[in-house]
Amino acid sequence: MILCRTPEEARRFRADLYRQGRSLGLVPTMGWLHEGHLTLVRTALTENDCVAVSLFVNPTQFNNPEDLAAYPRDEKRDRELLEALGTHLLYAPGATAVYRPGHLTSVRVADLTEVLEGGYRPGHFAGVTTIVAKLFALFAPDRAYFGAKDAQQARVIEQLNSDLDFGIEIRVLPTVREDDGLAMSSRNVRLAEAQRPMARLLYGALSAARASIARGGADAESVRAAMRMVLGKGEGVRVDYVSVADPRTLKELDGVINRPVLVSLAAYVGDVRLIDNLTVEPPGAP
Ligand code: AMP
Repeated sequence: MILCRTPEEARRFRADLYRQGRSLGLVPTMGWLHEGHLTLVRTALTENDCVAVSLFVNPTQFNNPEDLAAYPRDEKRDRELLEALGTHLLYAPGATAVYRPGHLTSVRVADLTEVLEGGYRPGHFAGVTTIVAKLFALFAPDRAYFGAKDAQQARVIEQLNSDLDFGIEIRVLPTVREDDGLAMSSRNVRLAEAQRPMARLLYGALSAARASIARGGADAESVRAAMRMVLGKGEGVRVDYVSVADPRTLKELDGVINRPVLVSLAAYVGDVRLIDNLTVEPPGAP
């Protein structure tokens, strides 16, 4: 596995692949890899000649400095996991190699970034879209891999890819969960054992929403209320939002649910902020 620390090194690797006519899959991550990330990498390895993984805890997408400081990091462990899978390149730049002094450019996707996560994490998506645009420009991958775990992010990146004519095939793979349903996340390591039952309530709330939508005739507002009720059972769970939205526009829905919807939520368990979602279809949806 080649390790690159600077854009210049990564660009040379990309140029070599072009010369050899080999395809490239890109998996952007912030490290502290878990099975969710590794599934993206494994899939990328089956669909491309070469796979590049980026590992960069992008400071500009953290609206909260404490969250950035507490974000878990272990590059050596991540390197070993990626090497064992047969990853071809790891791009793990330092912050100053990515944002060189005098960096002035930022990429912003309108509308889609103003709701849900965007409403609670000001500046977050500008950080995400800027770093992803930089990675797309640098690696020009044939395919890029993202998790449905961050459904809004995936939707925003599809828009970015289309609007800026990157022409990359965006692959969004299903959320990988723990046996108890909790979505895998690098942040889960910060949960105390006693907080795990509360963290499980997130999936519990989504499952309740899915069950009520699957019965047919469910009303969006009552589904949101049902999710709040499940989350309310957890002492120390603080809800940022619960949402039943259009999967494409991400706008909240009202009235009876008669088409596929994105059900999502964000909540703090202690001081750990968790997000999760499911895409759910009512019976007989078009
Ligand atoms: P992160 O390191 O959290 O920025 O995540 C890197 C990529 O892995 C993103 O595309 C995430 O959506 C994806 N990812 C994170 N957790 C999961 C999971 N539990 N299942 C599937 N994909 C995930």
